[in-house]
Amino acid sequence: MPSPATSAPQKMPAELYDCAIIGGGVAGLTLALQLAQAGRKVVLFEKETYPFHRVCGEYISMENYDFLCRLGVPLAEMDLPKMTRFTVSSPTGEALHHPLDIGGLGITRYVLDQLLARLATEYGATIWEGTKVTDVGFADEQFTISVAGGATYQARTACGAWGKHANLDSKLQRSFLEPSRQGRQFVAVKYHLQIDHFPQDLVEMHNFRDGYCGLSPVPGGLTNCSYISDVRNLRAHGNSVAEMERQVLMQNPLLRPYLQEAQREGNPPIVISQITFRERSTVDAHVLMLGDAAGTIAPLAGNGMSMGMNASFLLHGLLLEFLEGRISRAELEQQYTRAWRRLLLLRITAGRFIHQFFGRPSLTTLAIQVLKRVPGLTNQVLKLTHGRSY
Ligand SMILES: Cc1cc2nc3c(=O)[nH]c(=O)nc-3n(C[C@H](O)[C@H](O)[C@H](O)COP(=O)(O)OP(=O)(O)OC[C@H]3O[C@@H](n4cnc5c(N)ncnc54)[C@H](O)[C@@H]3O)c2cc1C
Repeated sequence: MPSPATSAPQKMPAELYDCAIIGGGVAGLTLALQLAQAGRKVVLFEKETYPFHRVCGEYISMENYDFLCRLGVPLAEMDLPKMTRFTVSSPTGEALHHPLDIGGLGITRYVLDQLLARLATEYGATIWEGTKVTDVGFADEQFTISVAGGATYQARTACGAWGKHANLDSKLQRSFLEPSRQGRQFVAVKYHLQIDHFPQDLVEMHNFRDGYCGLSPVPGGLTNCSYISDVRNLRAHGNSVAEMERQVLMQNPLLRPYLQEAQREGNPPIVISQITFRERSTVDAHVLMLGDAAGTIAPLAGNGMSMGMNASFLLHGLLLEFLEGRISRAELEQQYTRAWRRLLLLRITAGRFIHQFFGRPSLTTLAIQVLKRVPGLTNQVLKLTHGRSY
């Protein structure tokens, strides 16, 4: 079995890949895996080294179950917590309890991403981990991918799956970075907690001023705790995560006991910054974007991973059509943009809308009071944030 973990060589390889994928999160890895399963020559670059922890709630909607099983992820054998109900609370502790119609599984990204990387390698994809892409250029119908250390790679197509914010966004001068489009900025934090008897079928989402925190079970008796907050909360507390938690998050009486009393699992919290929810393009300089690189979704609306994997499923089909000569590059780009918008724009827009609404104490309390009185409305909101099996 080939090893997925190798460092990039310094010599220029002569190979021409069918597809180069930049970024090895769920979007990039599932795309690499599908193309490799279809017999295509794929190379994927990931700047980190598997396995590693990431900021993520680690809740995978059941809509992805069949897809992941088809790719070879043995979900049924992994003894994963299955969540079928949720609680959402306002900063003052007003709470709504509701079933999750489709539900989801808890799986750590530490495990999932490494598993997908191993499967992709087994099917013949080349994965260069610990390898940061520094530039991507397009000329004469070919992409040249440059990586730190000086090596370059050639590919017929290139896909950007580099997540929420990366060096390549500035390199490609992506329009969402224009100063006129600057909006609110967020920070996100994740760690695992040891909470005695946290229900294995429950997701909790607790709002606080200008942010919200999710709690959900993951394997190993741990509870994922991840939250997103307006960066102003952090700045107002001397850039100290602990102080922000004490002064802001713990004002929510339902969240306070978890943060105050539960023991944290060994790894330190992971903190990421510069998160924005501005609209992004699906194609830039002929690079096809997917996952968060094509449009970050607010986590309250859940399912960023689902949207990344959904996009990879859509894109792999169109890439095969292009590589087999059935559509031109212009058609590939147009059809992908159109299909991506049809598939995901409503969910992204709903996510942004919900995100605006929550995190404001009085509005959140009001919203929860309304949702409690009209359960049908909660089902509609949930439908907007979850998709169908594919
Ligand atoms: C607080 C929080 C909670 C969330 N909870 C959930 C949840 O419970 N369920 C859910 O479905 N979604 C959740 N999401 C959203 C989800 O985490 C993302 O939508 C998902 O991880 C996006 O996957 P991706 O593959 O697009 O990007 P990522 O998983 O971010 O992967 C991008 C990869 O690209 C690599 N990279 C970047 N630049 C380069 C470069 N130049 N060269 C090489 N590699 C590069 C990065 O190292 C990274 O590994 C949450 C998000 C946040 C912030």
